[in-house]
Amino acid sequence: DKNRLIMEFGCDARNEAVARVVVAAMLTRTNPTLSEVEDVKTAVSEAVTNSIIHGYGSGEGSIILEAYIEERTLYITITDHGCGIENVDRAMEPLYTTVTDGSRSGMGFSFMEAFMDELKVESRVGEGTVVNMKK
Ligand code: ATP
Ligand code: MG
Repeated sequence: DKNRLIMEFGCDARNEAVARVVVAAMLTRTNPTLSEVEDVKTAVSEAVTNSIIHGYGSGEGSIILEAYIEERTLYITITDHGCGIENVDRAMEPLYTTVTDGSRSGMGFSFMEAFMDELKVESRVGEGTVVNMKK
């Protein structure tokens, strides 16, 4: 696709805002409603934040954002090569979090699921995580 975008960035927390804005800018091509823009920004933010804090933690590594639009549908893939998820079904349950200090609510995947039309998560422990979304 001529309109595709691939962006690789380091797992610095500040890059989350960059990823969110880039996808929002791309989405403007479809004349989205404000609420569609907000939904997509939230979903990207949740996925990228997960890669940063869970995938890489205090370590280093990059996150790859891929996006394209086809017939007014936006396809997004967010990939990390971090620690991976042991049980994806369980991780996707509302309120499930592996962070025990109370700083996380375990709602990231639930928001992605609610705000996007499709969510697919593939992960392997020690290899990383791929989040596919469509809106
Ligand atoms: P919140 O998103 O509400 O701040 P959370 O990040 O813990 O809390 P989810 O985003 O739903 O909740 O993720 C659930 C769990 O899945 C996380 O606690 C983490 O264990 C695991 N997880 C999610 N994304 C990744 C990732 N990219 N790499 C490794 N583990 C992940
Ligand atoms: Mg999260």
